[in-house]
Amino acid sequence: MTATVPRGDGDRQPPPSRRTVLRGAAAVTMASAAASALTAGPAAAAGAGPSAAAVDHPGAQWLPADPANYRTARRPRSHPIDSVVVHVTQEHFADAVALFQSPGRGTSAHYLVRSADGHIGQCVREHDVARHTGRPDEDNRSIGITHEGWVDSTAWFTEAMYASSAALTAAVCARYAIPLDRAHIRGHHEVPGATHTDPGANWDWDHYLDLVRKAVTER
Ligand SMILES: [Zn+2]
Repeated sequence: MTATVPRGDGDRQPPPSRRTVLRGAAAVTMASAAASALTAGPAAAAGAGPSAAAVDHPGAQWLPADPANYRTARRPRSHPIDSVVVHVTQEHFADAVALFQSPGRGTSAHYLVRSADGHIGQCVREHDVARHTGRPDEDNRSIGITHEGWVDSTAWFTEAMYASSAALTAAVCARYAIPLDRAHIRGHHEVPGATHTDPGANWDWDHYLDLVRKAVTER
């Protein structure tokens, strides 16, 4: 029955439990220490901001999520990455960025792809764990890519967005040796226990996987 109520990443989620908040606080403390160590190099001395080398995908725009909306990690060493999860925002691009940048919303994705031109924003580093599936164990093992649009309208799923996202997924799969199949490139609705239905029936999986495979061979 959930299929009759499209749900995407922009939907409000219940507030985190007190235990989750405490765990998050501990993670932030550890992250601060790690960040201090990382920024002590020549780049920091030269005044380069954290955005200078922050993107993992060339050409992506660094649009950092609030640290409260993701978990810092040292993937793939801390958690192997073996999956890409495809989402739809149920928000406009700018509103999705604002959501990820609002502390306490508890949601983020590594990448956000714009409908009109396929422009890619990176909101969380790939070595960190974005909160995009609603399942911490699934978040640990995956890269989350969300797409501007609404699940009940094909108009948002432009060719520019498919092509740009497919090239991104191909690069991610190459980086972590992720198999190019639907068992490893999944929709949010296919994550065990997921309550969301994105990317929905209008997402053309056959076309998307074709583009991903082509992008891999052209790399
Ligand atoms: Zn989703």
